[in-house]
Amino acid sequence: MIPITSKLPNVGTTIFSVMSQLALENNAINLSQGFPDFECPAELVSLVSKHMKKGHNQYAPMPGVLDLREKIAEKIDKIHSARYDAETEITVTAGGTQAIFTALTAVIQPNDEVIIFEPAYDCYSPTVKLLGGLVKSFELSAPDYQIDWEMLKKLISSRTRLIILNSPHNPTGMILTEYDIKQLSHLIQNTDILILSDEVYEHIIYDENSHLSMARYPVLRERSFIVASFGKLFHNTGWKIGYCAAPAWLMAEFRKVHQFLVFSVNTPVQYAIADFLANESNYIDLKGFYQQKRDTFRDLMVNTRFDLLPCLGSYFQCVQYSRISDEHDVEFAKRLIKDSKVAGIPVSAFYNRRSNEHVLRFCFAKKQETLEKAVERLIKV
Ligand code: PMP
Repeated sequence: MIPITSKLPNVGTTIFSVMSQLALENNAINLSQGFPDFECPAELVSLVSKHMKKGHNQYAPMPGVLDLREKIAEKIDKIHSARYDAETEITVTAGGTQAIFTALTAVIQPNDEVIIFEPAYDCYSPTVKLLGGLVKSFELSAPDYQIDWEMLKKLISSRTRLIILNSPHNPTGMILTEYDIKQLSHLIQNTDILILSDEVYEHIIYDENSHLSMARYPVLRERSFIVASFGKLFHNTGWKIGYCAAPAWLMAEFRKVHQFLVFSVNTPVQYAIADFLANESNYIDLKGFYQQKRDTFRDLMVNTRFDLLPCLGSYFQCVQYSRISDEHDVEFAKRLIKDSKVAGIPVSAFYNRRSNEHVLRFCFAKKQETLEKAVERLIKV
């Protein structure tokens, strides 16, 4: 073996792989990984096939098929009354993860500080580290994971380059409020801080809440990369397609990286999604679809000894198990798989410092019968 220096020496097998493997070995119901166990719309599959047969099988334009970018711009305008130029301000990506990696690579220099709220989706911190940036973690706590903006101010320095936001939030199901937006706008005033806003769950939001995209607020929008994922929108996480929207000056830098990272994204799927987006109910109706799943799952879970934390968006429900056990969450999650045959994710895995508040995350993007069967087992815990 030729010696090399690992760029990510502390990254091993992720907790997601560990839990899924354990779930498989124990024949457990897997509510750990964040993807649906039901099919994506048949119409969309037919559209991909149609475009393949039509000959849309060669490289797409580097920023994406123009028809798709135009449909994305229309969608953003319809929902948030914000106009993005399809030519210069939207790029189609190979999923949200590639958009995040590309945006960070475009703007982070060595020793730049990046603020990450924890618990956090797992790709943010390793990406910043790969780029030589410094992760400044801001820990949020159960049960409601609210941001203390006064405390956050203390983390800001002259080297703060970017803040990563994620609303609706994975894993906590929390959303940004108008109060948060006001505080954020105030915080970045007279600074050069950029924003990466991970909005992949934008359409999965409950009750009377609406998604407060950075696109809605000119002072935030002018310095934001907004990341979205069609995998979440159309129940096909395996297709790995999403997009980034940003003002032209930021998008120009984004595309410099994008063209050497992937150059372009798979062509027939782009045409198919462009057609599918023409019918707005294909994305507007998602809210009602998941609201029903969230309500069902919460109603069933009331009969268990797990305490439900709020879930205002995303397809994740966090639960606290302090009334059942004081074990560390990783140990508890493993035991739940072995003894009760249900897999969840210990929320400590989403923190750098592995703080443990006895919280597990369950994914309820599952068929009704999967949810019912899982809760039947959880009732006995
Ligand atoms: N951000 C968050 C918060 C996510 O939960 C995910 C997917 N689990 C992504 C980004 C990545 O999206 P994609 O699968 O489109 O790469």
